Amino acid sequence: MPRGFEYQRQRMVEALRSSGITDTAVLEAMAAVPRHLFVPAQWRHQAYAEDISINIGQGQTISQPRVVAAMTQAAAVGPESRVLEVGTGSGYQAAILAAIARFVFSVERIPELAREAKKRLDAFGVSNVSIKVMDGTLGWRAQAPYDAIVVTAGAPEVPAPLVEQLADGGRLVVPVGPLDHQVLTIVERRGRRTRRRVLQEACFVPLIGRSGWKEERR
Ligand code: SAH
Repeated sequence: MPRGFEYQRQRMVEALRSSGITDTAVLEAMAAVPRHLFVPAQWRHQAYAEDISINIGQGQTISQPRVVAAMTQAAAVGPESRVLEVGTGSGYQAAILAAIARFVFSVERIPELAREAKKRLDAFGVSNVSIKVMDGTLGWRAQAPYDAIVVTAGAPEVPAPLVEQLADGGRLVVPVGPLDHQVLTIVERRGRRTRRRVLQEACFVPLIGRSGWKEERR
């Protein structure tokens, strides 16, 4: 019986579909990107379990496929979108966004992770992602405005610089709340107004920076 990664990936996509992911572009991207190549070799066998997050080193994790799909769907990315991702990590979420959007700007504060992610995306021939090492809580002003911004680390509150860098009609998806428990929050910008709604509960590693959590000092 076929039990290869491709088969497992299809099963994952079916699980996502039945759990309420309806955006075909998101499902197609999740069916196309080889998630097992974004996790350390010893965790590959769990790469397509839709509700398991995996350690990627440096104390960071790659989110559960379920969460990646929900965030991407909430970001409502289309073929013309310019997207900012805060927290490159393994590069998996960036690859999913890049499969749908025109261009993805992704920022990461840990240089080693950024370097590995870039290597990975280059190896897959993904050419519409630009990765930069910096404090993403301040956004990437030079490339703004963005049609969508996806933050993949938990913030104490919605980082104001990110809202400012949204295009008119743009959406920011960000986990907000205390260190051990957040809610996925969607901020939509309409002219000078913003509208906020909550999607689902989540648990992310901390967003550390000027408009995030302060770095731990010992
Ligand atoms: N999206 C990633 C998961 C990232 S985990 C993936 O698909 O694999 C969250 C990441 O956010 C970590 O790599 C962490 O280093 C990074 N991060 C935390 N605070 C940040 C900040 N202020 N700016 C940029 N990256 C940050």
